[in-house]
Parts: sequence; C-alpha cells; structure tokens
Amino acid sequence: MLDALFNPRGVAVVGASSRELHIGNRVIKNLIDFGYKGKIYPINPKADEIRGLKAYKSILDVEGPVDVAHMVIPAKFTPMAFEDCGKKGVKHIIINSGGFSEVGPEGAAIEDAFMEVARKYNMRVLGPNCQGIINSDPELRAYCNFTFTFPEPGNISIVALSGGVAEVIHQGFSAMGVGTRIYASNGNACDITIPEIIRYLGDDEGTRVIVTYVEGLRDPATFMEVAAEVAAKKPILAMKAGRTAEGAKAAASHTGGLAKEDMATDLIFKKAGIVDFRDEGELINAAAAFASQPIPTGNRVGIITNTGGPAVIGTDILVDAGLEIPPLSEKTEKILKEKLYPEAAVHNPIDVLATGTAEHYRACLDAMMDDDHFDCVLVNFVTPFFVDNEKIATEIVAVSKQQRKPIVCNLMTDRKQWKETVRILQDGGVPCFALPGEAARALTALVRYHRIRTRDAGRIKNISDVDKSRAEKIISVAENAGRHMLLADEVYQILDAYRIPVADWRMAGSVDEAAAMAEEIGFPVVVKADAASVIHKSDMGGVAVNLKDAGAVKAAAKKMADELAADDLRFFVQKFMPGGMEIILGAKAEEGLGHMIMFGLGGIFVEVLKDVVFNLTPVTDSDAKEMLAGIKGAPLLAGTRGQKGVDQAAIEALLCRLSQLVGDLPIITEMDLNPVMAFEDGLFAVDARIAIS
Ligand code: ADP
Ligand code: MG
Repeated sequence: MLDALFNPRGVAVVGASSRELHIGNRVIKNLIDFGYKGKIYPINPKADEIRGLKAYKSILDVEGPVDVAHMVIPAKFTPMAFEDCGKKGVKHIIINSGGFSEVGPEGAAIEDAFMEVARKYNMRVLGPNCQGIINSDPELRAYCNFTFTFPEPGNISIVALSGGVAEVIHQGFSAMGVGTRIYASNGNACDITIPEIIRYLGDDEGTRVIVTYVEGLRDPATFMEVAAEVAAKKPILAMKAGRTAEGAKAAASHTGGLAKEDMATDLIFKKAGIVDFRDEGELINAAAAFASQPIPTGNRVGIITNTGGPAVIGTDILVDAGLEIPPLSEKTEKILKEKLYPEAAVHNPIDVLATGTAEHYRACLDAMMDDDHFDCVLVNFVTPFFVDNEKIATEIVAVSKQQRKPIVCNLMTDRKQWKETVRILQDGGVPCFALPGEAARALTALVRYHRIRTRDAGRIKNISDVDKSRAEKIISVAENAGRHMLLADEVYQILDAYRIPVADWRMAGSVDEAAAMAEEIGFPVVVKADAASVIHKSDMGGVAVNLKDAGAVKAAAKKMADELAADDLRFFVQKFMPGGMEIILGAKAEEGLGHMIMFGLGGIFVEVLKDVVFNLTPVTDSDAKEMLAGIKGAPLLAGTRGQKGVDQAAIEALLCRLSQLVGDLPIITEMDLNPVMAFEDGLFAVDARIAIS
C-alpha cells in the first residue's frame, strides 16, 4: 500500500524554489546529493530550471510517472494543487509545509479540504508539517526530506512523529557508524498513520529492527493490534515522551495536540511486545545492537575485559537489570588458563590484562561461544599502545560475524588516534559504545526482547459463573436515575453477580435497624455511613470498626447521624474482618482500549509509596501473576520473616474476575476495591466503589 511512497519512481516538488534556503530547493538538493535513482521534477510556474534540472510550469506537464509529490506551498493553495496531482496520477503527497491543524481550526479545515481531493483521486498523504521519508536502499536512494543527515544504508528503520527526534536518532546512528534503512516522519498525521508505516516496515525485508518515537497515540487500539503483529516478527523499539504533565503539555503544542499525560501507552507497549525506552540515548544504542547482533537465548553474560574498573561498572548494571554473570565452565577455565597470561583473571569477568593479545581475545570469545553457561558477551576493550589493537578488533569482528551469540563492545579509545581500530569494528558490525554502562544497557535491551519473545502471554480466563445481565440491570437503574456513582448496595450486588467475595453485609435505614442487622450478621461488625455526600467515609467519621454488641452499633450509628447530618444517610453494616492484609484493586476506562487494571498493597503502600502496578484488560492469568510479582511489596504477599503470606492464587483470580467484570460492563468508568482483606486462605472485599459514565 505504501510501496510507492517508500520506493518512488519519480518525485515532483510542488513549490520548487530557486532560493538556496527554501525547503522547495533543499528537497531537490537532497535528492540529488543522496544520489536518487529516480526522476526529479521541480514544479514552478516561473522558473525554467532549478539546480540544473528542468522545471515544469505544472505537474500536468511532467511526462513520466510521479509517485511522490512534495508540497512546499502555502497551506491555502494545497487543495488546488491536490487537484492537479490527482489528475496527474500522483500516488502520495508529502506536505512539508505547516499552517494546518497544528495552528488551529482554520488550518484543520484546509486539511479536510485537501483530504477530500485526495480521497477522490485515491492519493495518500504524509504530513502535513512533516519531514518526509528517506529510503537508503542503494538501488533507490530516495531522500524525500529537507533535513541534513545522510544515513548510510542499514537495516534499522525509523518512524517518528517528531522530525526533530528522528534527527537526533539519525545523528546518533551516524555517530556510531550505524546505517538506517527507511525513515518516515508523519507530523500532523492527517492521513497516513504510524501503525500503517509500522505495518509496512514489518513487511519490508530490508528492515531488521523498527525504532519508533511517539508522544501519544491517536488510535491506541489500532496501534496495539498492528504493533503486536509486527513485534512478533521483528523487534520494535519505542519511546514515548510527554510522561509528565509538563511534558505532555509541551507535546500537545507541537504536533496538532494529540498527546495527553498517560500511562496507557506504556501498557500498550508492554502488551504489544515492544521494547520500550525512557532514554533516547539508550534507545539509539540498543537499536545499534539489534541491527547487527542475534537475539540471545537467555540472560547469562560473559564479560571479557583488558581493564578492571569498567567491567565492574558493566557488571553492576547488568545485574541490576536482572541479567546473570555466571562462572566459567570448568572446560572454559581450563582452556583459558593454558592460553592466557598466567596473571590473567580466569573467571567471569575474564581479565586478559592490558597486555592481552588478539590471540587471547580470540581464545576468550571462542570459549564463550562454546560455553553453554553464556548467552551473550560483553567485551570491554581499551586500546593500549603496546598491543596490536587492529588485530584484536579483527578477531572480535570475526567472532561477531559468526552470529552465534550477541556481542557488544565498550570501546575505550581515542577515536582520532585509533581510527583504523574503530573502523574495523564499525564496518564489521560490532556495536561499539563509549561507556561501559551504555554497552551493558544495549545488551540488556537484547535480553529484554528475548524475554518478551519467550514470555507466556497466558490465557484469558473465561469466567462463566457470573451473572452479567443482573449486573447490567442494576447499572441501568442508576443510569436511569442519572446517578454516576452507584449506591453501596448496588455495588455489592454487582460484586455478588460476579462472585467477588465480600464480607457479609446488610443495608439499614435506621439506627435500630442497624443493630438488628448486626445481630443477623454476627458480631463483631463494622458500621459505615452511606450517603451521596460521604465519599471518603473514614475521613469523615463514617467508619466504626470492631463493634462487639448491639449497644456499640447503636452508639456508632447515632454518632454518625448526628455528625454527618445527611438526609439520605443509611447505615452499611458489615462483618468485621480483622487480621488480613489490605490490598487494593482498581479499574479505569481508557478510551479505545478497555480498562486499565491496578493492583497494589493498601494503606501507606499506596498512599506514600505508590507501590502499584497496572495492566490493560483483558488481564490473563500470566498478567495477573506478573502484577503480583511486580510490586515492591511482593515479598509481603509471599510471606517473610515469620509473617504468613496471603492467598496469592485468590488475588490472581480476583484480578481476572475484575478484568472480566469491567470488560462485560464497559459503562463502568472507574471501579475500586479498596481495601480487599487478603488472608492466608481466601479474601474479602470490604469497600468498593463503582462510577459509570
Ligand atoms: P473509606 O475508604 O471510605 O474511608 P473503608 O470502608 O475502606 O472506608 O474503611 C476504612 C478502613 O477501615 C479500611 O481501609 C479498613 O482498614 C477498615 N475496615 C473497613 N471495613 C472493614 C471490615 N469489614 N473489616 C475490617 N476492617 C475494615
Ligand atoms: Mg476504602
């Protein structure tokens, strides 16, 4: 579908300019300088020739096919120019100029106008307000873009909403001597979307890894679907910026205002199997490793170094990230003891010493490739003047080329003096980084991808013992009454319909009734005030726990009636459930995505430590397990230091049930079970809220 956009036979520039500093000139210069193999057609009613190329008064005068037309003209002229392009049979239009939806409703109206023409002629639009595309395929070399970095051919493809960030990424690759395959930046994205481009890159044989930068997702559901499909075939590395409220605001102001502060994007990345990054440098470095190295089959790292300290730094970072640094096998140790200097440290990390030779490096690399204690290798290589560094580089390249296990290199050198060594490594496709931490993090990214690929996505449990229609009926009563918050008894009835265990309860209209109901439930009980004005019950004196007899119940209820003075006050009487661990579960609707499900420990763990985890519905059994393991307080769930743990299987089941409940009842915008009392055996919700739209 986007084939002609990325492989144009002819490119026209509507608004071609003779002025050096004009985009309509720069695009032409870039196409020429990059060595574009197709035909370039400057369109300008007044010029005969631009940059030595014949200029055309109208695109309709062009003889050959035009697959891509750049528009570098004022916004208001675009709909008319689109007509001509349509008549000419142009397939794709790249609008580099701004002045469209990013400036307000007037601009947006122009987008609507040209899109109408585009649809009439079956043309697709990239942009407006975008850089364009680059395809570095040596057979084509299309640089339909006005920027300045000329990438080497490579196998990393980039798709970014922001051209500025894409430029940063390009520069990063270029500094490392890593090439780019295809690049696209879609600016306002009024037609061609990032998911469409990702799908194209997923099918593109020359693309080995996809790097993407977003600031929010316009159509999260489609993004997730496409990304999941593509990420199953090849790695997608992604970064989302605008995570803070301030960052989101900055993002909203620069490309048509689609970004909002959200957490859902992180969850989408996770669910789709994307390797996500919070640091652009780390993303760039990781991409370089993915571009040339195989994916490891485990997380065990062998480290080879010729200097001590950097290997220590690298080790810390790897271990922090959950990678392992296992000992050498006996066989490896024996081989290396024979081959290395006697003073060399023959354990992991292996220190071949600064005087270590190319033969020593080679012996270590070979041994680690053969040793099944290791899944990947980190090489720390400082370039001392007294060894043959070029030869060492050549050996590293030779082993890297075997593609048996991934190798990354922390190359500590003066790039000006050891030019040839650097060149050998770079041309040989060894990802080289300037810091031990960078190398370690790039390796970590490879292992993360391995984990994603081998992760058991789990099963969505279809829980059949629920009564969906009963819950729907309860909700429609509230809906018809125009209430957004459900009443306590409605909430508990819905929990009952979904067989979520709750502490036994009754709703009482009066003080005396509360006492009578407490007798029915059996002491001790809890009394809670239930009224529209009472939201955080305990903060307002609306919760009285551990009431041991009817007198205590009456006294507590009376006190609430006096203090809260609410006309609609009722008393929610509930079995007192002491001694459990308080946990919280929540759900929040996310447009186009279902719900976000939250889990954490209650009390100070949520309030002070914010120790909670999130996931998108549907929550599978594996997701639920990971959520429990994902909080910092996880050891408390399992039980530590003589303290008993809680029924984790019951919590997992409850997460799945909650996921199904909100999935069945999408009208629920927010729901929380706070707290649920979890015991060694079983659990009970003691407080719950449901809000509907
Ligand atoms: P709110 O959140 O509106 O303040 P809750 O119903 O959550 O009110 O009650 C506040 C706290 O009281 C809970 O976090 C819990 O510690 C305690 N509590 C409430 N109900 C019970 C109960 N049935 N058994 C034991 N403790 C309870
Ligand atoms: Mg509560």
